[in-house]
Amino acid sequence: MPRRCTVCDHPERHSIDETLITGAPYRSVAKRFGLSESPVYRHKTEHLPTHLLKAKEAEEVAHADDLLEQVRHLQTHALDILERAEKAGDLRTALAAISQARGNLELLGKLAGELDERPVVNLNVSPEWLELRAVIVGALEPHPAAHRAVLGALESRGNG
Ligand SMILES: [Zn+2]
Repeated sequence: MPRRCTVCDHPERHSIDETLITGAPYRSVAKRFGLSESPVYRHKTEHLPTHLLKAKEAEEVAHADDLLEQVRHLQTHALDILERAEKAGDLRTALAAISQARGNLELLGKLAGELDERPVVNLNVSPEWLELRAVIVGALEPHPAAHRAVLGALESRGNG
C-alpha cells in the first residue's frame, strides 16, 4: 500500500475489519473508532479484501471463509428484507435494503476476486462484472421502477 491508511495503522484494525464485515455503515464505524469517514470507506473498499487475502496466506483460511460466509449470509438477509419491504410497499426500508445489498455485492465481488486464484470464467463471479453491476444498479437507485426492472433482469439472468 503506497498510501498510509489510518485504519490499517489503527491498533484495533482487526475489530474494525470485523465490524465492517458485519455490514455496519462505515460512518458509524468511523464514529465508533474515532476515525474520519473517508479513510474508513477507502479502507473498506480497497484494503479489507487484501487483509482477507493475507489472512488466507497466513493459513487463516477458516477465518477468511467465515467472513465470506458472513457476507453471504447478510446478503441473503438483505434480499429477503428487500422482498418483504417491496411487498409491503415500504419504500424507505426497501431502499435501505438495496443499499445494503449493493454494498454486500461489492464486497462479495472483491472477496471472490481475492480468494479465488483460479482463472475466472464465470461472469457472475468476476469482480469486474460485479463491480460494474453494482455501479449500474446503484446509478438507478433514484429511479425505483427502472432499478427494479434492471435488478430483476440481472437476477433472472444470474439464476438461469
Ligand atoms: Zn486500510
